[in-house]
Amino acid sequence: TQVFNFSSGPAVLPADVLKQAQQELCDWQGLGTSVMEISHRSKEFIHVAEEAEKDFRDLLNIPSNYKVLFCHGGGRGQFAGVPLNLLGDKTTADYVDAGYWAASAVKEAKKYCIPHVIDAKITVDGLRAVKPMSEWQLSNNAAYLHYCPNETIDGIAIDETPAFANDVVVTADFSSTILSREIDVSRFGVIYAGAQKNIGPAGLTLVIVREDLLGKAHVACPSILDYSVLNENDSMFNTPPTFAWYLSGLVFKWLKKQGGVAAMEKVNQQKSELLYGVIDHSDFYRNDVAKSNRSRMNIPFQLADSELDKLFLEESFAAGLHALKGHRVVGGMRASIYNAMPLAGVQALTDFMVDFERRHG
Ligand code: PLP
Repeated sequence: TQVFNFSSGPAVLPADVLKQAQQELCDWQGLGTSVMEISHRSKEFIHVAEEAEKDFRDLLNIPSNYKVLFCHGGGRGQFAGVPLNLLGDKTTADYVDAGYWAASAVKEAKKYCIPHVIDAKITVDGLRAVKPMSEWQLSNNAAYLHYCPNETIDGIAIDETPAFANDVVVTADFSSTILSREIDVSRFGVIYAGAQKNIGPAGLTLVIVREDLLGKAHVACPSILDYSVLNENDSMFNTPPTFAWYLSGLVFKWLKKQGGVAAMEKVNQQKSELLYGVIDHSDFYRNDVAKSNRSRMNIPFQLADSELDKLFLEESFAAGLHALKGHRVVGGMRASIYNAMPLAGVQALTDFMVDFERRHG
């Protein structure tokens, strides 16, 4: 059976990319060595690095007054990196809480400031939703605003484009949604994302930062989290995660070949509509997120009879549908369907779900 991997992260990579990496693993560009084994300062690697940045910029249409940093430390590293770089002489920042990861960012920020938390979680007709941005009550002395546009665990998305006053520095954790839909980078001060969901292997973190926000890091900010230091050293202040950078570069090329982010957005819409459709058309499955805030990347669903959870997971695994167990804090099931998950994978999942319901409903 063909395997489809619905892991939330580290997550599925495009099969073509893995094949290419396999072919090149031991003898990269005829050098008789692996790309993993060469210096990050060699001209060969610098070419890989520059090409990856260029493709990433093309894909997201990143304006020239933004820097792209290739960092260590993951999403959680940036939970500290954002306050350490942006607080300046301010003592507070606005943090919108709409789920698990936004709340985790607040917890980390408390080490550096007194976050002003905007609880944006609401219930609409018994369904979980998020207050629209126009109702977020920003404070007037905040260094920046932070939110998470896609809550990987809760399956909640905030797809609105920020349209705040020009002096509001908007920062956002795009870890589980970057490159899945078109965004207007110019509305943000900082965008960051761990690579291991929609980009490449774990170990690499992308930061997009507006130029004028550089140079304000706290004196105690570790150099490896300092945006200015990383920028001045072309993200090579310390040894970067070279293999993850190379592989992410292959994913960017693959994305371009698929038609770029606009094309991915279309497929992601089709994939999520197919899965939500099956969930909504049955009493056997349910998803309790309001339509306006449903994630296209991470789709949690419950079986009406949780006694069947174990059987569902066993049978789905046997059918080649892997990693469907929901996060431990919410239970049930979750299908993560990032860019690299083909429509055929979601079709296989929904076929299985319909058949499972027929047999056990
Ligand atoms: N932010 C979001 C939205 C995530 O989904 C995750 C991980 O799943 C993180 C942050 C934490 O990322 P990392 O494990 O790279 O620190």
